[in-house]
Amino acid sequence: MNISKSLYLDYVNCRRKLFLSIFTPEKGIIDDSVQRRIDQGHLVGELAYKLFETPAKVSYNNDFEQMVKDTKDLIDKGKKIIAEASFRYKNLLCSFDFLEIIDGGCNIYEVKSSTKVKDIHLHDLAFQYYVAKTYGLKIDQVNLIYVNNDFVLEDEIDPKDFFIIEDLTAKIIAMVDNVKKNLVEISRLKKDPGFMYLSHCGECEYHDHCYDEVPEDSLLYLYNYRRKAQYYSQGIRTLEEIALHDPSLNEIQLRQIDYHYHDYAPYVNQVALENFLDKWVFPLHFLDFETLDFVIPRFKGTHPNQRLPYQASLHVLPSAKSKPVHYDILLEPSEDPREKMIAFLETNINNNGSVIVYNAAFERSILRELADQFPVHGIKLEKIIERIVDLLDPFRQGMVYNKEMKGSFSIKRVYPAVCPEKAEAYHELEAVHNGTEAMAALESLENLNNEDREKMKRNLREYCKLDTLSMVEIYQRLTKMI
Ligand code: SF4
Repeated sequence: MNISKSLYLDYVNCRRKLFLSIFTPEKGIIDDSVQRRIDQGHLVGELAYKLFETPAKVSYNNDFEQMVKDTKDLIDKGKKIIAEASFRYKNLLCSFDFLEIIDGGCNIYEVKSSTKVKDIHLHDLAFQYYVAKTYGLKIDQVNLIYVNNDFVLEDEIDPKDFFIIEDLTAKIIAMVDNVKKNLVEISRLKKDPGFMYLSHCGECEYHDHCYDEVPEDSLLYLYNYRRKAQYYSQGIRTLEEIALHDPSLNEIQLRQIDYHYHDYAPYVNQVALENFLDKWVFPLHFLDFETLDFVIPRFKGTHPNQRLPYQASLHVLPSAKSKPVHYDILLEPSEDPREKMIAFLETNINNNGSVIVYNAAFERSILRELADQFPVHGIKLEKIIERIVDLLDPFRQGMVYNKEMKGSFSIKRVYPAVCPEKAEAYHELEAVHNGTEAMAALESLENLNNEDREKMKRNLREYCKLDTLSMVEIYQRLTKMI
């Protein structure tokens, strides 16, 4: 069996992942957010070409042997920079983003769209270095090219400012023994090692497949619990078992466990909840943003991965007895949304009254960045930030709990748990049901024809509207609990 760097990295991430990638790759799901990351990575890769003078390129070919042959031809022709340079040593395959031929040796470069060097990048380079070195290449330098987090777009992107090139040669050479050891273990992997809880399971394309076998009372569903991996590896699997083994569980975690095994009435700490809601000031503004980020900034004054607010939904509740009034805005990814979004907020959010969001860190960071980048609006935006109240707090601070929350306080879990008659509300939406789909839908607006674009915009509006309407209804339900 051939081992490419992607299979090698699957092994480094998780032995089971490698097994699944070899024998049942169809069980992997590339969701919209992963696909988006891949697409953005390709754009970054293309931009990196501009760092080099007239690089020659080995075209992708399903037949790896052809790529190896094309690489050799380009080297023989005296090309100094070769993109996708490919080599094989026995069953080990590697392709460098860029190979630089220098007198008597070469330098290698891998391009990543992240803004820092990660461990997995080191494993990536170490594997490729080992393969090429064993093949017979004399490698002087191993470099990682990644995105400069301090870059701010002015007029045009200068790749020399946008990228950082870091020489990691010493670190990579020190990892060669580890590569050899891993390759021996890979060659011995003959059967499914089974599910093993890892902190990055949530980002894995086999997540849904693996979690199919995780029972509902697994300790993996315990709220905000940082010792899952430790206890899981010791064979502690259920909520019941963890309650017996870990004396440090907090009140919220113990309540989740207790409620899991019993049909108790919903828990409400009425005093705490009343104190919390008493601080809210009418008119109440229920606000939610949907954002897009671009690794390569598109608009002047923005930086890599800046979350730009393209959509907002706002329900305003003038008094406890009145009906909420809805406002929204939806902008297209081809334009810089910031000033129009600021105008929307300044027009529709009153000078007084609480601003209710769900998971305030996100909305706060968007507003603060707008305030920093448009100081002329800074005072008004800061006044909005000061009035933010987090509707997540009654749940994550343990004021309210019911069995249906199952240890998750995301709005998609809390809404049907608190308002059971709305259990299907998100499922009934057309096309856009969650934040990941909203991002993909927003981005797709650029490429749709008029009819489909209008349809997708309606779907986005309905989705974002439900996000704030659900907050209103959760709030109204909470007021009835005190
Ligand atoms: S979900 Fe977790 S256990 Fe399953 S393959 Fe991915 S990383 Fe491994």
